[in-house]
Amino acid sequence: MPASLTDSHAHLADPTLFDSVVDVVERAARAGVEHILAVSIDLPSCAASVALAERFPTVWAAVGVHPSEVAGYDGQTIEQLSRLAEHPRVVAIGEIGLDYHYGTSNASLQQSAFRAQLELAASLDLPVVVHNRDADDDVMRTIRSVARGPDLEDRTGVLHCFSGNDALAARAIDQGLFVSFAGNLTFRRADSLRETAACVPLEWILTETDSPYLAPVPVRGRTNEPSNVRFVVDQLAEVREITPESAARATSANASRLFRWV
Ligand SMILES: [Zn+2]
Repeated sequence: MPASLTDSHAHLADPTLFDSVVDVVERAARAGVEHILAVSIDLPSCAASVALAERFPTVWAAVGVHPSEVAGYDGQTIEQLSRLAEHPRVVAIGEIGLDYHYGTSNASLQQSAFRAQLELAASLDLPVVVHNRDADDDVMRTIRSVARGPDLEDRTGVLHCFSGNDALAARAIDQGLFVSFAGNLTFRRADSLRETAACVPLEWILTETDSPYLAPVPVRGRTNEPSNVRFVVDQLAEVREITPESAARATSANASRLFRWV
């Protein structure tokens, strides 16, 4: 069993997991998962993530509004997020970002919500957890355009569920962004993603489940949960020709460097 695994992205507040969260967190601990970042998509899930982080010592929280949930977003949302982010168990703003997969009809609302949350993160010296779907250029441009203090220069945040190529990974790292690999790294048709995972500098790689979505092989198709991050770590170890223990140790150390949990 690899020691000290990290799930840098889990939707523990999602009802699919929340209803059995005690078992979910317990199974993760038994699998060696020492840190889980509970990410949020809207204000109710932010409150739930913070409550989970208070309840379980292995769980920490990220608060933010997901690009798919920006419909009701307004000026008050930032005030509420900034209050939630004062909690000592909140270690990041997320997940935030841009998603053009279903079109760009609300792109300007997405962009203003993304920018305002990046500015909030910068003002609080917190890293960001970024969702990017079919929006590489706008995501990178927006991140680049928001000034951040020296503390965040080499830990701006993370591109979660990375599915880009070597060039995007290089642009991300140049901005102080880690790249996080999820269950899609294990999929049969993911050869080019595995090639990228073999090349990205190890000190910039995180691992995640994106639970309850994206269950890795060999549990593909089931409800995903943080204990399954071991399959992602094993796959990463295989493509980099290192032991699962070294992959676990490196990615967990990276997550600690980014989120500064203890
Ligand atoms: Zn997510």
